[in-house]
Amino acid sequence: MIYIRKRRTPDEVKKKVEEIKRTPDNGYDELELPENTKQLRNLFEQMPKDQIRSALFEEQHGLCAYCMKRITSSSQKMKIEHYEALSENKELALDYQNYLGVCYGGEKDGDNKSHVLCCDAERKDRKLTINPWNKRQMEAIGYYRSGEIFVRQDEGLDPELVEKMQKDIDNVLHLNGEKDSDGRIIRDTATQLIAGRRSICDSVHSQFERWDKKHQLTPEFLQDKILKLEKQLEENNIADEYIGVRLYLYKRKQKKLRKHFS
Ligand SMILES: [Zn+2]
Repeated sequence: MIYIRKRRTPDEVKKKVEEIKRTPDNGYDELELPENTKQLRNLFEQMPKDQIRSALFEEQHGLCAYCMKRITSSSQKMKIEHYEALSENKELALDYQNYLGVCYGGEKDGDNKSHVLCCDAERKDRKLTINPWNKRQMEAIGYYRSGEIFVRQDEGLDPELVEKMQKDIDNVLHLNGEKDSDGRIIRDTATQLIAGRRSICDSVHSQFERWDKKHQLTPEFLQDKILKLEKQLEENNIADEYIGVRLYLYKRKQKKLRKHFS
C-alpha cells in the first residue's frame, strides 16, 4: 500500500450529486440506513462513473489503492470502492472524497473455489482502520523478502493501531493471502500478490549486489533512484505495479548506509 493524495472532487461529479440529492423523486432526504441501502445504491449508480474512475485512475497513478496492482479507468479493470461502506454512511455514499479505485481482487479469475480473494472482493462492507489517505500509516508499511506485507512497529505508531492495521491487511483485505493459525502464509491470493512483491524484492536485492560491486551504492546514489521513483507518483504519471515495495527497500537501504557512513 502507498499513500494516496486525495484530489478535489471533479466539478461534474459535484454537480451531479447535488442534482441527485435535489430531485424529489429520488427521496434522498428520507433514506435511512441500513434499511434503504438498496435505494441509496441506486442513487450511487446514477453518478458519472466514467469521470469518477478516470479521476481515481489519475490520482492513484494507475494502481489499486490496496494491493498496488495495475488498474485502468475502465469498469472492467477498476471498481469504485467506498472507504466508509455505502450501507454505513449516507452522506459519504455519494461523496467522491470517500472513493478509492480498487482491483477486482481475483473475482474475475475463473471460478476455482480454492482461490483466495483480496481487496474489496474480500473486504465487502467490513470496517477498515488502515487508510491509504493517511500518510503516517502508509509510511509504516514494510515488506519482507518473502513478499509479505507488514506494519512496522518502529515507526512511532501506537501498538494498538499497528495491530489493527495488520489485522486489516491479513484478515480483511487478505493482502497476504491465506495464513495458518501460526501466521504462516499457506496460499497466495488469486492475483498472486505475494509472488509479485517477492519478485520486486529479488530484483532490488540483485540491483544492490550489482551496484555494490561497482562501488556505486551510497546514500546519494540511492537518493537519485528514490527521487526518480517518487516522480512516478506525481501529476498524472502512471506508476510501476508494487512501487511501494521498491521504494521501501531503497529507503531502508539508504538509512542503513547513512548509519554506516556517519
Ligand atoms: Zn487490489
